[in-house]
Amino acid sequence: SHRIPLSDGNSIPLLGLGTYADPQKTPKGSCLEAVKIAIDAGYRHIDGAFVYFNEHEVGQAIREKIAEGKIKREDIFYCGKLWNTCHPPELVRPTLEKTLKILQLDYVDLYIIELPMAFKPGDALYPKDENGKFIYHETDLCATWEALEACKDAGLAKSIGVSNFNRRQLEMIMSKPGLKYKPVSNQVECHPYFTQPKLLEFCRQHDIVIVGYSPLGTSRDESWVNVSSPPLLKDPVLNAIGKKYNKTAAQIALRFNVQRGVVVIPKSFNPQRIRENFQIFDFSLTEKEMKEIEALNKNVRYVELLM
Ligand code: NAP
Repeated sequence: SHRIPLSDGNSIPLLGLGTYADPQKTPKGSCLEAVKIAIDAGYRHIDGAFVYFNEHEVGQAIREKIAEGKIKREDIFYCGKLWNTCHPPELVRPTLEKTLKILQLDYVDLYIIELPMAFKPGDALYPKDENGKFIYHETDLCATWEALEACKDAGLAKSIGVSNFNRRQLEMIMSKPGLKYKPVSNQVECHPYFTQPKLLEFCRQHDIVIVGYSPLGTSRDESWVNVSSPPLLKDPVLNAIGKKYNKTAAQIALRFNVQRGVVVIPKSFNPQRIRENFQIFDFSLTEKEMKEIEALNKNVRYVELLM
């Protein structure tokens, strides 16, 4: 079912459902419904995080579909994320256990460090000082990584990886004395306007799968997206190629990445678009079209992560 191998012997489905949606603007239960529709449509990979505040809905959807007999637990690939306030090594396992309790599952398939920098530990997920500035926390990423390795050994995570890491940060982990497991994946922004040529080449050389987030160019929510970069799905080249195959620009953008071995995790909570985004395995782009799409790269991020 369109999976690619990971360096630890496991595998990851090339297409997953993203589940980040602004909790202020999204009705409760939308994520539950979306994940159930996605599983019915054939999705087996779900991308979530504690900090998305809907992990309980993801867990419920998976458990309902297992109870229905539609899937078994081992058919599903769930990726959870370690938030910035939980980098100290002694917090890692309890944090993953909290996620498992929210999901009501025994393990996650992939657990990743969400960002390579830490916030002050505590109840505030976005701790700020009296001037409104984020309070960072000095931690050793290698020590955090060792705590993830222990979670894999304990069977709480089948695979472990990272997110938003650059080459230098990946090298730091991989050259750590006594490294037990290297990161199987690095989840970063990746789509036709931000194709990641250098990081992709580096990760290929080291058997690290790139998981491309915001593969459709984000929701363009101005509170966190750089909207000065034009909307991806309006792109004339993507739309022209789509016309040829009777596909949408979204399907072309997703197909481009999976065809070059980049996993995509488009978010949709809309039944029709959830199904549309899955219909990318019944055609392929020519080498010339792949090159044309690669040439759209602007080297500009939508997700600047200014913190
Ligand atoms: P995205 O998947 O590129 O785009 C989502 C937006 O596109 C939503 O507004 C969605 O609306 C719309 N959409 C979905 N399918 C469509 C289609 N076929 N045609 C037109 N519009 C469509 O953006 P994203 O949510 O930023 O990224 C995807 C996932 O990556 C997130 O949900 C999250 O799981 C992950 N992520 C991770 C990080 C990280 O730091 N690790 C950062 C950002 C995102 P509807 O729901 O109404 O369809």
